[in-house]
Amino acid sequence: MARERLYLFDTTLRDGAQTNGVDFTLADKLTIARMLDDLGIDYVEAGYPGANPTDTNFFAERRPMRGTLTAFGMTRRPGRSASNDPGLAALMAAEADAICFVAKSWDYHVRVALETTEEENIASIRDSVRAAKAKGREVLLDCEHFFDGYKAKPAFALACAQAAYEEGARWVVLCDTNGGTLPHEVEKIVGEVCAKIPGDHVGIHAHNDTEQAVANTFAAVRAGARQIQGTLNGLGERCGNANLVSIIPTLKLKPEFSEKFDIGIPDEKLGKLAHVSHTLDEMLNRAPDRHAPYVGESAFATKAGIHASAIMKEPATYEHIAPERVGNRRKLLVSDQSGRSNVLAELDRIGLAIDKDDPRVTRLLDEVKEREAIGYAYEAADASFELLARRMLGKVPHYFDVEKFDVNVEQRINARGERVTVSQAVVKVKVGDDLLISASEGNGPVNALDLALRKDLGKYQSYITGLELTDYRVRILNAGTEAVTRVLIESTDESGEHWTTVGVSANIIDASFQALMDSIIYKLVKSGAPA
Ligand SMILES: [Zn+2]
Repeated sequence: MARERLYLFDTTLRDGAQTNGVDFTLADKLTIARMLDDLGIDYVEAGYPGANPTDTNFFAERRPMRGTLTAFGMTRRPGRSASNDPGLAALMAAEADAICFVAKSWDYHVRVALETTEEENIASIRDSVRAAKAKGREVLLDCEHFFDGYKAKPAFALACAQAAYEEGARWVVLCDTNGGTLPHEVEKIVGEVCAKIPGDHVGIHAHNDTEQAVANTFAAVRAGARQIQGTLNGLGERCGNANLVSIIPTLKLKPEFSEKFDIGIPDEKLGKLAHVSHTLDEMLNRAPDRHAPYVGESAFATKAGIHASAIMKEPATYEHIAPERVGNRRKLLVSDQSGRSNVLAELDRIGLAIDKDDPRVTRLLDEVKEREAIGYAYEAADASFELLARRMLGKVPHYFDVEKFDVNVEQRINARGERVTVSQAVVKVKVGDDLLISASEGNGPVNALDLALRKDLGKYQSYITGLELTDYRVRILNAGTEAVTRVLIESTDESGEHWTTVGVSANIIDASFQALMDSIIYKLVKSGAPA
């Protein structure tokens, strides 16, 4: 059976930019747009030209893309002609392939918010679609508050949608703008709309206010809608938009959808989905949601010992999909609740062969439990766990000793009369018989220490040149009566592998030092540096 095409429309850069605390620069927007285009998204809505300088600049020049670059804006204002509306003019001037208009479709909003008549609202939709079509643009109409509007006055809501369709809009998108509609209502209403407007011209735009944006999206597809609007990681104002990162793998991997529909995302790009999701978080300087479906660090993590042994035998017993399909991986947690089988499974993954009855397995497990009790987190810090295990088996060479380090932070007035804070670190390292002293300045004490530590490791220097720190996270924990600091450092190298190390201490510099040391030693081990 021929499969039908479903189209994906991403609005991370427009609706997603409404998220509290999110502020994309032009460079961010260009990077994200390229990432979405590379993934295989059909429509990338990049902003609202005329509304702010960033979006106006984005659309000031042609941004070549494989997909359809879309500009967002309002239909002409009531009482004005399309040719005499500055908002519409800015939209028409935008270098975009498509224009997505937003228009009211709820009679109540037309009366109260627009203070105009239903006839004028429909005339505005017709004029705007016509004007954009005349400019050679593909046109979409977002029907704002469509579901509430349809419940209040179905004939009017439908008339708004039909007006756009009749004027040649490629898509009429039904928006659950306040996110309050439930899946069975969406399915029913979309079904009724698709009886009047062909489903391959109908889209769904769901918000997550009842945590059902993804479910509402699938309800609409079941009822006939063939365009899906959403955002990466469900970004969006209030509770967010429908999360494309959850929707895409469901469409690709669940037979209910994959047997009926094709989407523009090839399998190999699906395998990059976790990376795409985490890259966006990195740009927003947020820790990725560990529990995110499909792509979260915990999405394929199992804690209980009995499950771990079963997973090793037959992964499909506990997993709804193979984690590699979306670029994630299976994770067996080594934590205070775990049993021997978890530790054995992790040792197996690392590639450390050990007999399951070896007493060192018990010692390792006890050590992990003890350290987790004082704040270490080996679930998150896979590289520190690996070093702990390797040390237990005598498989970490003694590379170097840090004899001493000194970190200082100074605030002073510089030559230009500005108040500046400068951090400096001096590290004394013994490599074999050589005593090496390095000093470095940094934008903070930990940065200075890191730079000094990695400046000169003598004969090991060549092994760590590709080492880079990509994330640094600090948490204050309450261990008993005293607060301790836990530092997690994520590193990467020329091979693209990412690893995380941990340090815990009452002193933040000390905790950071432990995590930095683990990262360097992990890199030396993995590069096969000789003792
Ligand atoms: Zn929205």
